[in-house]
This record gives sequence, structure tokens and C-alpha cells, in this order.
Amino acid sequence: MDNCIFCKIGHKEIPSYTIYEDDLCLAMLDISQTTRGHTLVIPKQHFKNILEVDSSVLSHMMEQVQKIALLLQEKLGATGFNVITNTNEIAGQSVFHFHIHIIPRYDENDTFSVHYTNNQEITDFSEIMAQIQK
Ligand code: 5GP
Ligand code: ZN
Repeated sequence: MDNCIFCKIGHKEIPSYTIYEDDLCLAMLDISQTTRGHTLVIPKQHFKNILEVDSSVLSHMMEQVQKIALLLQEKLGATGFNVITNTNEIAGQSVFHFHIHIIPRYDENDTFSVHYTNNQEITDFSEIMAQIQK
């Protein structure tokens, strides 16, 4: 897709620190390293996000995510990972070419954290279920 930075990386028009590549996808170091070894897995074909990616490409990419996390565990000494795909602007997606972040974790106070707040005002579990199952 014209003007898509990750399409350009996939087509080798822009360089990247590529750690794995095949016909369907590419894994590269994120230009902004949240933690050491922060990696992005992208499809070579353009899809906007996880809601639109072809399911067979998605399955293939997730298999590579597992292999790459195992590699980063072995080679960089990561002791855990956050695997994230931000979906749409509201959720923090800034590049609208599907990608999966693999964020290696080294200790609880490293440079990345996820904070889940428990919204105590949401108590309508049965209504949520009814809406989903309707
Ligand atoms: P998002 O915010 O969409 O979930 O993540 C986009 C990610 O792409 C960001 O973490 C950002 O640092 C990374 N990024 C943006 N431009 C480039 C680039 O040209 N090369 C690489 N390797 N990463 C990029
Ligand atoms: Zn693209």
C-alpha cells in the first residue's frame, strides 16, 4: 500500500533490523526499544489490523511469535514477554499495518508495564453476557 511504512519495510525499500523473514511475514527490532529486543512481527501483505488480517496469515504469524519469543528468551535472557497488538487509534495503534509487538521482560521494574484497573462500576455481568449472546 502506498505510503505505508511497514509495506516499504516488507518490500525492502526501507531497511530494518530483521531477525526473521519468510514469504508471509517479517520480524524486526522496533525502532523505539521499549525493552531490549522489543520486536515487531508484520505480514508482508498489507492488512490494517488484527480485525482484517487473513486468518491463515495470522495463524502463521502467531507461530513465528512463539518461536521468536523462545529465541529472545534463549539469546537475550528474557524471563517473560508481553505480546500485544494495538487495534485502532483508540487502543494506541499508530501504524495502520497489522503488527504484533513482542516485548521481552527482564524484571518487574524494567521499562515496560501493563496496568489493569478494576473498574468497580462495571457490575452488569449478566447484561454483558446477554448482549454478547443475543
Ligand atoms: P503501534 O503504536 O501501532 O502499536 O506500534 C507501532 C510501532 O512501530 C511503534 O512501537 C514504533 O516505534 C514502531 N515503528 C514506527 N516506525 C518504525 C520504523 O520505521 N521501523 C521500525 N522498526 N519500527 C517502527
Ligand atoms: Zn502496509
